[in-house]
Amino acid sequence: MEEKVKKGGISVETEHIFPIIKKWLYSDKDIFLREIVSNACDAVTKLRRLASLGQISDLEDNFKIKVKVDKEEKTITVSDNGIGMTEEELEQYLGQIALSGALDFIQKYEGDNAQDNGIIGHFGLGFYSSFMVSDTVTVVTKSYTGAPAVRWECRDSGEYTMTPDEKEERGTDVIMHIAEGEEEYLADSRLMTILEQYCSFMPVEIYFEGADVEEKGEKKKEKEAPKPINDTHPLWMKNPADCTEEEYKEFYQKVFHDYREPLFHIHINADYPLNFKGILYFPKITNEYESLEGKVKLYYNQVFVADNIKEVIPEFLLMLRGVIDCPELPLNVSRSYLQNSGYVKKMSQHIVKKVADKLNSTFNTDREAYEKLWPDVKIFVEYGSLREKKFYDRVKGSVLYPLTSGKTVTLDEYFKLGKPEEEAAEAAETAETSENSADSAAESAGKSTEKAEKSEKPDETKEKTVYYATDKAGQAQYIAMLEAENIAVAYLDKGLDNQFISMVEQEEGVKFLRVDAGVADALLAEGEKLESKALTDLFAKVSGNEKLKIRIENLKDESLPALYTVEERERRFGEMMKLYGMEGDAPTPEGELILNSGCPTVRRLAEKAGEPEAEPVARQIYRLALLGQRRLTAEELKAFLADSFALIDRLI
Ligand code: ADP
Repeated sequence: MEEKVKKGGISVETEHIFPIIKKWLYSDKDIFLREIVSNACDAVTKLRRLASLGQISDLEDNFKIKVKVDKEEKTITVSDNGIGMTEEELEQYLGQIALSGALDFIQKYEGDNAQDNGIIGHFGLGFYSSFMVSDTVTVVTKSYTGAPAVRWECRDSGEYTMTPDEKEERGTDVIMHIAEGEEEYLADSRLMTILEQYCSFMPVEIYFEGADVEEKGEKKKEKEAPKPINDTHPLWMKNPADCTEEEYKEFYQKVFHDYREPLFHIHINADYPLNFKGILYFPKITNEYESLEGKVKLYYNQVFVADNIKEVIPEFLLMLRGVIDCPELPLNVSRSYLQNSGYVKKMSQHIVKKVADKLNSTFNTDREAYEKLWPDVKIFVEYGSLREKKFYDRVKGSVLYPLTSGKTVTLDEYFKLGKPEEEAAEAAETAETSENSADSAAESAGKSTEKAEKSEKPDETKEKTVYYATDKAGQAQYIAMLEAENIAVAYLDKGLDNQFISMVEQEEGVKFLRVDAGVADALLAEGEKLESKALTDLFAKVSGNEKLKIRIENLKDESLPALYTVEERERRFGEMMKLYGMEGDAPTPEGELILNSGCPTVRRLAEKAGEPEAEPVARQIYRLALLGQRRLTAEELKAFLADSFALIDRLI
């Protein structure tokens, strides 16, 4: 026997590689099991392929992989009944070639900030990653060719021995002798967790024989038939036409441990030139912060690679949950490769398109259902649109704006709302008879002013304003005034809205104005406006702000003495600054007090503007106007209450 023992040393600079493997992959040692089990899977797949090519006959389809723990021996053994290796193959595959690839990989990243570069830990070094947890690895293998079995034993120093073995069954056992300090890997629960994470969908049945399982099993009288820990035919590999809603739901709940039902799913089955499959789910989000915890799991031929790889899945879609399986990506490469890969870009675009298609088709075929989904989907759509213009372009027709009235409309629908019939007809007529019937939106700004003067056509800029509220209670006064004039008010009360509408303004050439941002023309009454310097001076004085902007207007609503408005741009800018935590630098948006000369109180006040009793009245009007727009400060509120009580006292 002695003379048959072969000795060797793994070729490429081994004294280099083992310490490096241990060091670099330290943060993600768990993947060793994925690497060894997926090698076992590959060994079975190769054999199946040979059978399907007719190169082997009489092959019984009883393929399986066993993962077994022996606490006494301190070993983890992964056994397969796949293709096996001959002595030459063993020497070639495990002794040299793969290693040089691994060495390249490591050298490339040695200088890199590997710990931050999350991707590294996710990709394995194949067989050699077993040395992250083992001091010795033994491989016993018998090739399907019938060549004699071989036993290869390799120490973590890189020296190995090769001896003949008695193994009779075809396949390979990889026996990892767990190193000191790594005993945690001998615990069943630890291994099960790793197997679940990485091997849940591998294409060959995997059976786990943990040390504890075995003990318990012996106590039981009747042993249950062992069940594989994995699902060898995951749903994403099936033809979408053959999957039921129930299956999609179950799959989601199982994979994401989320008892809630997802909103909807998208099954991607990309053929040539792309080749990847996957299912993406829109999860139901119950609180805003949860939204960031989406998870898209990336697989490579049913082997889990990593969660949320930014380079492959567009960032905004990382809020979704799902699985993507792509056998085309050489994932054992750097992040910069992924970033620059045209393939990855196309893949990412395809996913974006699929998501947009799904939204649009739901919008078009089942508006009612879509409106119900909207509050949950909105955040994805807005975020996605902000992140990727192309996405916005695809879905913009399906973006909804809820109104304070309870209705929900698209932007186009908004502009058609509340337009009196004749006006619309008139506009159509003007367009027809006009010499220049081209779309006036496309014309230059200069030309359109000229035209507005000449024709009856309603002013384009006015038409294209979307009024919105962010707080139904706080802005009730303004909302009511607009609604009284049949102007619809969009209700935008969520975090991303500000950024989103700014983007829509740019893209669509429309304007969004918060209800308190000014006085809509529709609210103005005809007739002379009052002009009274005494009145404006009076208000400047009682406001305590000599620079306060004050304007007198005739409003249709005669019951309202005054309104306080806040400039839209500045207010929005200030809100953005706050969002980024720069409160201190945020400018106080300039306000303007609108006095309503249509209101009898104001007219009477104007007559008495110089007299002493005018002051407390003006002061109360000013504060009430402020109160309609915002919360008073503590000082303002205290003074306001005291003065109000004094006024009431005089009434009785
Ligand atoms: P990779 O799997 O990326 O090729 P590895 O280092 O994991 O790199 O493995 C090197 C080679 O060793 C494999 O390509 C395969 O030919 C062979 N091999 C590893 N494990 C097995 C196994 N369980 N059965 C048969 N061949 C194996």
